[in-house]
Amino acid sequence: MEAIVIVGGGVAGLSCLNALLDRGIPALLLEGSKVGMPKMCGEFIAPEVVAALEKWEINSIQKIREASFNAKNKSFHLVFPKLAGGFSRSEVELHLAERAKKMKGRIREDFQIVKIVPATHNTPYIFTSQTGEEIIVKTAIFATGKFAQTILAPIKKKYAGIKFHFENIIAPETLLMFSLPNAYLGIVPISETMSNCACLMKSNGVDLKNQFYGMVAQHKQLRTIFAEKKCNAVSWLEGQAPNFELKKLPDWPHAFWIGDALASLHPAIGSGFAHGVSSAILAAELYCLNQPNVYLKLSNQNAKIKYHIGKMMHLLLQYPRVGDFAIPLAQSQPWILNVLLHKIGYT
Ligand SMILES: Cc1cc2nc3c(=O)[nH]c(=O)nc-3n(C[C@H](O)[C@H](O)[C@H](O)COP(=O)(O)OP(=O)(O)OC[C@H]3O[C@@H](n4cnc5c(N)ncnc54)[C@H](O)[C@@H]3O)c2cc1C
Repeated sequence: MEAIVIVGGGVAGLSCLNALLDRGIPALLLEGSKVGMPKMCGEFIAPEVVAALEKWEINSIQKIREASFNAKNKSFHLVFPKLAGGFSRSEVELHLAERAKKMKGRIREDFQIVKIVPATHNTPYIFTSQTGEEIIVKTAIFATGKFAQTILAPIKKKYAGIKFHFENIIAPETLLMFSLPNAYLGIVPISETMSNCACLMKSNGVDLKNQFYGMVAQHKQLRTIFAEKKCNAVSWLEGQAPNFELKKLPDWPHAFWIGDALASLHPAIGSGFAHGVSSAILAAELYCLNQPNVYLKLSNQNAKIKYHIGKMMHLLLQYPRVGDFAIPLAQSQPWILNVLLHKIGYT
């Protein structure tokens, strides 16, 4: 029987594996596809966990000192109280996997869990893979991401996303955010020469690429950026994105739910990865203390605050005209922003 198994090898699962190995716990991680596969996301990382990732020798994180929010006619400039980052998500996942393997961590790829017999207080979990292999597990860490509920229930896919890398830096050390009708877009440097652009939008049913470039063409600032800076995509990913939500978790014993499997946060506050890493570290700590219930309480509290603030920002960013009203308010009452930043772990 395996003492502890992590299901899912995204940022959350791999962080948890590293955090457990740091504490001398040799967990097994099961990933349904391959570690480091391209996934729909922005590549901004909130300040909360930059230090933790650097402690794991991830030195490729680009320093992000400020953000520029652009509504319809008005812009707002924010200097982060602590350094945030930009990174290539695939590279970070591969690095975390490499580090874990050096520490004798075990990772099995192409190992999709298709059936779970939940544990009881007296019996372990039984995980079955797509090939029919069974693994008996005492404690399970679910890091199955936004699509976690595939195990449990169909997923609601409400949004569409576009993500691409391009060779250029639009504004060094800066996260650029653009509020668009029914959409928002973020651009962040992920290396000294490369940026990531990610856009979340409500699909209008036409070709996503056309919809995206149609929005860009109608936005003066973006039109200029895309025309003058040659943001030609060197990789392109498009597809549906699920609804953002606090997940309804089954009441299984000896279980920890981390990252998006616990709560998928709106990208508007850029806290998804930070929540993945911080919940992973907390789960490892409280697993060692044998306190899954304390974990559940603390992680739910953290996720709830970020979820509600994220939802507010998510709605605001989809209405550029409303943003034009909100920006002068944020400028005249900076304490509001400071409270929000504090609550989501940016200070
Ligand atoms: C458009 C968009 C933009 C975003 N931008 C940002 C941003 O700029 N900054 C930020 O911090 N966050 C952002 N996010 C959120 C961020 O992408 C997620 O919070 C983060 O990827 C969650 O990581 P995770 O490890 O929990 O899940 P995932 O990265 O989804 O990993 C889950 C893993 O589990 C595996 N898995 C699932 N089911 C099984 C199974 N049954 N068996 C085995 N393996 C399984 C999957 O293959 C996958 O590799 C964005 C999200 C979207 C949609």
